[in-house]
Amino acid sequence: MKPVILKDSNEKFYANKLICIGQNYAEHAKEINFDIPSSPIFFLKPASAIIYDGDKIVIPSISKNVHHEVELVVLIGKEGKKIPHDKAMEYVAGYGVGLDMTMRDIQLEAKKKGFPWTLAKGFDTAAPISEFVQKNRIPDVSSLYIRLMVNDEERQYSCVDKLIFPVEFLISYISKFMTLEKGDMIFTGTPQGVATVKDGDKLKASLLDCNGNILSSLTVEVCRENQ
Ligand code: MG
Repeated sequence: MKPVILKDSNEKFYANKLICIGQNYAEHAKEINFDIPSSPIFFLKPASAIIYDGDKIVIPSISKNVHHEVELVVLIGKEGKKIPHDKAMEYVAGYGVGLDMTMRDIQLEAKKKGFPWTLAKGFDTAAPISEFVQKNRIPDVSSLYIRLMVNDEERQYSCVDKLIFPVEFLISYISKFMTLEKGDMIFTGTPQGVATVKDGDKLKASLLDCNGNILSSLTVEVCRENQ
């Protein structure tokens, strides 16, 4: 089981299901020529895809085009089903930042054929996560920012208030169909600026408050699978 760290807390968390939201920022949907959805699109990644700060992303040999997608990640603190919108935040334990690493070539091929995205999104090392900040330290989640630096150059940067479907809505919507459990994580979608990573790239993802202070961050390096 993969542990999940909630800062300044003794409570233990282990990663359960990773629920990832697609096309949740309008500018990103446009850049990859996907439609803006009328209700949230979501898919799952296995917890085995998780890696941590200081680890390595391993690009599978079958892909020539692995993209980075920096995302706000919501850690679920307790079980809930059919959660009403106004109670949604009671189910959040904390917020972190993660990367939804994607084999874009494999994903587009699957999309064309109507096949699932599981391989494109669920390979080992495809889900780097940071430590999580307790929810009570963050009065307003929509005031947070996410940023991705690649080799010290800014590639993705957005305020979370640009989410098409905000956090409360996602929790309420997902739990209509799928019970949320302690240790589940919701990857809330990526803003514009996704791009191909290459061997040796250093990725630093950060979660920031509205004054630019880093609340949590994650640094990982990219390498190719030995052929
Ligand atoms: Mg994503």
